[in-house]
Amino acid sequence: MPYQAENTPALLPWRPNSVFLRHSLLFILWLAVWMLGLLVEYTEHASVWFPAAGLTFAALFVIGLRITPVLLLACVCITFWAVHYYQLQLSIWQTLQGGLLFGVAHILPYYLGSLLLRRLAAAAHCTLPLFVIGFILLAASSALVATFSGIAALVYAGMMSATAVSATWLPFWVGDMAGVIVIAPLFAAILSVLYPAATNVLGQYVGPAQRFASRYFIHKLLLNLVLLSLAMLLANYADTPESAFAIFFLVIPHMWIACTESAFYTTLSVAISSFAIALLVNILALMDHVMVYQFAIVVIGANALFGLAVPTLMASNNQLRLVASTDSLTRVASRDYLQQRAELEISRSLQQGEQLCLMVFDIDHFKQINDKYGHSTGDQVLLQACQQAQQIIRPIDVIGRYGGDEFVVILPNTAKEAVVAIGNRIIERLQQIELAQQLTVSASFGVAALQPGDSFRSLFERADAALYRAKQQGRSQVAW
Ligand code: GH3
Ligand code: MG
Repeated sequence: MPYQAENTPALLPWRPNSVFLRHSLLFILWLAVWMLGLLVEYTEHASVWFPAAGLTFAALFVIGLRITPVLLLACVCITFWAVHYYQLQLSIWQTLQGGLLFGVAHILPYYLGSLLLRRLAAAAHCTLPLFVIGFILLAASSALVATFSGIAALVYAGMMSATAVSATWLPFWVGDMAGVIVIAPLFAAILSVLYPAATNVLGQYVGPAQRFASRYFIHKLLLNLVLLSLAMLLANYADTPESAFAIFFLVIPHMWIACTESAFYTTLSVAISSFAIALLVNILALMDHVMVYQFAIVVIGANALFGLAVPTLMASNNQLRLVASTDSLTRVASRDYLQQRAELEISRSLQQGEQLCLMVFDIDHFKQINDKYGHSTGDQVLLQACQQAQQIIRPIDVIGRYGGDEFVVILPNTAKEAVVAIGNRIIERLQQIELAQQLTVSASFGVAALQPGDSFRSLFERADAALYRAKQQGRSQVAW
């Protein structure tokens, strides 16, 4: 089902109507998440967890190039703040230039990455796994380009010394990559609701049917946070490089969430874990292990994104199964499905020595109805005849379209006399169909009861022979 942002109020409780308000919110959010990055500042100017990069990528992907002035302004503001924070000796003019330069160096690579991802998403052959791998590769590569262009801008503007580059680029890149791979999907989901006319990002994956968490989502999330805290407390207590690797256990609850919750709640839980890791690194003073944690959360986030494909594939399998088992016009069972069910019921009844009947019916003079009232009235006759028959039979009985205007009903645990009565009741009901003046609908019925050694074919042939007799004897009757 195509995703309609207009129909998804529950994802955000309130959506601002004015563009200025939306842009202001985005601007404030960007500054706030930039500040959050300071929780895990590895070297000056390099956070190993940099959610602002994720917001930049998501904003450019969802809203496009028109959001650039907002992002650029945010980059300039943050540069003024950084100059003050690191006590750099730069004039206002130099800071402004540095901010603009850094803004362009930060925004351009992510714009190119998001543009390519948009192209991929729009391609007809794009499946969720392809989209996910495309996203991961583009996120990692645009983060790498943004790292070097950002560092070059900082050095050029005199905000960073050239000798610091070798110690800065790796944490800078890991921070940006973690920000994009782990948090951009959540930002994208939120922004696609905040900006309803914008490109719909996770589109079909954050659809209306997926807005709600399951009853146990909170339990899964808490379990995940307990595991995360234990793993980090262990590293704090043992203080060995090996102990930090316990964080990889988080793959397990995250895959569980990805396989059982909607895309939105999966991206939300990965983002929460990532924030919790940054917070605990700061509180428990685990900066020595922070690179392990960031690599882990990138792997977990990427993994969870692939996990999103599982419910989607399951849903499309169910959809395919439904399409294959239902006749599209009359909405009763398809011929193949009917035959499968009939064979199953027949062998079960034979094994357990129970009765079973097969009833076949065919609309009388259906060709004339088509000729006189048109094909679409003919279609309506088929649909309504099935609806009437379905109201008479029991839920355990199976009705299916055998072909054209011929239908088969399997009635387990039923004697022939009862089935004949059911056939007669359907004949009465068919008389109530009113589709056109002077159009009366009737059908002829043949009934056969299961005998030892019967197969679907032999049983059907006896019922069909009875149907032929019903037609011969004047139609609109049940023969057996
Ligand atoms: P009888 O009483 O002997 O059954 O006569 P009849 O005219 O009903 O003959 P028959 O059952 O052989 O006719 C089947 C007709 O059903 C022929 C075909 O054009 C028409 N038909 C088959 N499938 C459809 C369909 O999906 N929609 C419509 N409108 N007509 C269909
Ligand atoms: Mg017919």
